[in-house]
Amino acid sequence: MRIGIVGGGQLGRMLALAAHSLGHEPHAYDPGPDPSARDVARLHRGSFDDPRALATFADGVDILTYEFENIPARVLEEIAERGRAFDPSPRFLALSQDRLLEKQALSDLGIPVAPHRAVDSLADLRRARDELGERLVLKTRRLGYDGRGQRRIADESEIREAWRILGGVPLIAEAWIPFLAEVSLVATRGRDGTMVFYPLTENRHEHGILRLSRAPADVPGAAALAATAEDYLRRLAEHYAYVGTLTVEFFVTERGLLANETAPRVHNSGHWTIDGAATSQFANHIRALAGHPLGSTRTPEAVAMVNCVGALPDPNAVLALPGAQFHDYRKAPRPGRKVAHTTLVGPTPFTPERPPLETLLALSPFIVG
Ligand code: ATP
Ligand code: MG
Repeated sequence: MRIGIVGGGQLGRMLALAAHSLGHEPHAYDPGPDPSARDVARLHRGSFDDPRALATFADGVDILTYEFENIPARVLEEIAERGRAFDPSPRFLALSQDRLLEKQALSDLGIPVAPHRAVDSLADLRRARDELGERLVLKTRRLGYDGRGQRRIADESEIREAWRILGGVPLIAEAWIPFLAEVSLVATRGRDGTMVFYPLTENRHEHGILRLSRAPADVPGAAALAATAEDYLRRLAEHYAYVGTLTVEFFVTERGLLANETAPRVHNSGHWTIDGAATSQFANHIRALAGHPLGSTRTPEAVAMVNCVGALPDPNAVLALPGAQFHDYRKAPRPGRKVAHTTLVGPTPFTPERPPLETLLALSPFIVG
């Protein structure tokens, strides 16, 4: 089948690689001159807000999906009106594009989220501070990623500063959550409604960017947390008749899980599944889309994944570590840009303060600017 992927970044690249191995023909739609997926997918150049170019792309493939989250909902609607369906559900995509609507949708399904308020003025922000507490995170409702479009606030001067920097677009203020850990759950739902879940993954962010993921998560009560998270993802996926891979990021708190963010797609915290799970998140996404049976998520060993940001590592130094794998996205390095990831797979959990993960972290650049 011809699989059309809107977006040709590293997620598109890894989806295309998975599509190839199942005998499908990946096509990627991207505005950039040199997208990461360029040499593994047939490339279609066009802007994400050009409904006509996207419709032409849609007409030339059998299945449509996206890896880029900020396609205007209007554009997807226009394509849907032509009878071309996107998976996962554009209705779910529209929610995950707006942090306020997303939190409301999660709450409606009984999934706990951080206390929050909509903020459209400095007065709203001060009211949020009075109601939610001194420590806040102010975020743009739309278009944020990798910590962009957000400011932490701990006092009055930071309130004015955050408003000066972010004010003017719809915002959301969230209570600062003193989390014990961050985890995410990646799952795939097939066309027939079957769901498979990967092990709960533990994530560490630096400067708002994912630095390290480890699976299975090494947090107290991990089994119960995983069961709760699976229940939440099942509720979401069933409610939205979701087809494909889905991710939810959570804060682990004293009182359990709080959902932080949803992603209607394969996710960075699931990249380890290429090397560490029987079927990767990418392969399962393609299987779901193409109507194949889903594959096992069995993870026989412990896994750690480290993002390389802003520069590439020396691949030979990485590959010399026993159990290490290296994935280069073929992107031009720039500070703050994810350009590769490295993975370790082994029989015992990896500790960031001990080799070999300590060594892998030292070998994997993290340059944010
Ligand atoms: P992503 O790259 O995952 O899309 P993002 O920029 O969209 O990230 P978030 O996931 O909302 O933004 O936030 C990035 C990180 O900032 C979180 O993983 C967490 O470490 C921290 N953070 C965000 N909101 C809060 C909060 N309310 N309390 C504490 N920490 C937070
Ligand atoms: Mg996030």
